[in-house]
Amino acid sequence: MAPPLPETLRDKLHEECGVLGIYCTDPKKDAASLVYYGLFSLQHRGQESAGIAAVQSCPGSGGKTEHTIECRKGMGLVGDVFTGEILSQLKSSAALGHVRYSTAGSSSLENAQPFVSRFKLGSIAVAHNGTLTNADVVRELLEDAGVGFTSSSDSEVIINLIAKNYKKGLEKALTDTIKFIKGSYALVVLAGDALVGARDPNGIRPLCLGKLDSGKSEESGGWVLTSESCAIDAVGGSFVRDIEPGELVIIRQNEVFSFTFSEKTRRAVCAFEYVYFARPDSVIDSVDVYGSRVRAGEILGRESAAKADLVIGVPDSGVPAAIGYGRATATPFGLGIVKSKYVGRTFIAPSQIMRERAVSVKYNVIESEVRGKRVVIIDDSIVRGTTSRRLVLILKTAGAREVHIRVWSPPVRFPCYFGIDTPHRKDLISNMNNVSELCASLGADSLAFISVEGLLESLDGDGGYCLGCFTGEYPIPVPGEKIYTP
Ligand code: SF4
Repeated sequence: MAPPLPETLRDKLHEECGVLGIYCTDPKKDAASLVYYGLFSLQHRGQESAGIAAVQSCPGSGGKTEHTIECRKGMGLVGDVFTGEILSQLKSSAALGHVRYSTAGSSSLENAQPFVSRFKLGSIAVAHNGTLTNADVVRELLEDAGVGFTSSSDSEVIINLIAKNYKKGLEKALTDTIKFIKGSYALVVLAGDALVGARDPNGIRPLCLGKLDSGKSEESGGWVLTSESCAIDAVGGSFVRDIEPGELVIIRQNEVFSFTFSEKTRRAVCAFEYVYFARPDSVIDSVDVYGSRVRAGEILGRESAAKADLVIGVPDSGVPAAIGYGRATATPFGLGIVKSKYVGRTFIAPSQIMRERAVSVKYNVIESEVRGKRVVIIDDSIVRGTTSRRLVLILKTAGAREVHIRVWSPPVRFPCYFGIDTPHRKDLISNMNNVSELCASLGADSLAFISVEGLLESLDGDGGYCLGCFTGEYPIPVPGEKIYTP
């Protein structure tokens, strides 16, 4: 396997996974191929492994139709894992897919998703985005009951719980499982002839419902459940609605049956989905991601404008916020930094010198744009500080007279427990330094972060967001940490 990225390129929080399930009611449509296309639009949520599981139906005993599940998965990008031949083996009316970035469990094929369980009563497949906070306890209970595990992933806990409860019937097996697990989850499940979606009672990770076109206005050609609305667009569907926190949806043929499985629900969507994780063409819980980034830039400009000749965004996510900052401060917007799209999840850096130069391989400066100018660079976050320090250096080397950093998320001081890979507290540079110490350590002429209130305002300000890594107060109890009380 190729070596992981050097620390200099791991200077962002990383989303964990993307999930996508498709149920076709139009017999001309193939769900597995649609999942394959849709997974490309979720690739930004995970590049370590990709997988698709598809229902195969055949006549069984007593005239009943029997459903089994076929699954193919592998390490790498969607385009690396699947071929036309594999897709033709998966042809199906219902399928689900997953792209993974590992947080709980190592980066290996055994932890790649979807997970499939075949047992006496049938087959089920699960794709999970999130992290269970009680996975170890549940795993121990299941192991004590004789259940075997093949991976170190917390998602395997979910499929084993559903399988254990399956004799109670699908609906009861799902609700009993979901009531037992704690933490963050956006789940898509294939079971028998049903496609199921569930979102944790705080809705920390996103999940939405879309509809496939049937060519007839009164009918749907099928249904889509996915992490982000951009995947619905990619498969030619239309967005229907977000799955609510604590909601379970069961899709069979043209019926979408839904209920709330938790008495206590309180929306606390991960604010970082809007800051960095989600694609700008997605809409999550009625908030347009691109619009929220532009607004955050405007608010940042209002809160802490710097006298400058040029504002540039660190590509790609910094660009909408830089446009907003430029509007609010009347600073000309330009493209001063170019990013190589081909530095992916792995990077061979045999020497220390090459590891240090890794940021320069990923980013380069357009010298003619910045020379002699006072430049504001807008970034989504500062985690370890390695990228910002290098960007200041390459901008100044290219002749920028001053470099001012503006960040449209508050300082990241605390770890995430809900599916996001965060460094240890000691490696979070804002946890160890105040803003002026940090500014000096980055070599910038000034540094400012958006306030927590400003970030909330950019998200339309109705609350309902997890801000744990900024405030240290979490929506779900975490041992040793403070709980957020509104
Ligand atoms: S702690 Fe931070 S990264 Fe984790 S869910 Fe909350 S806002 Fe998102």
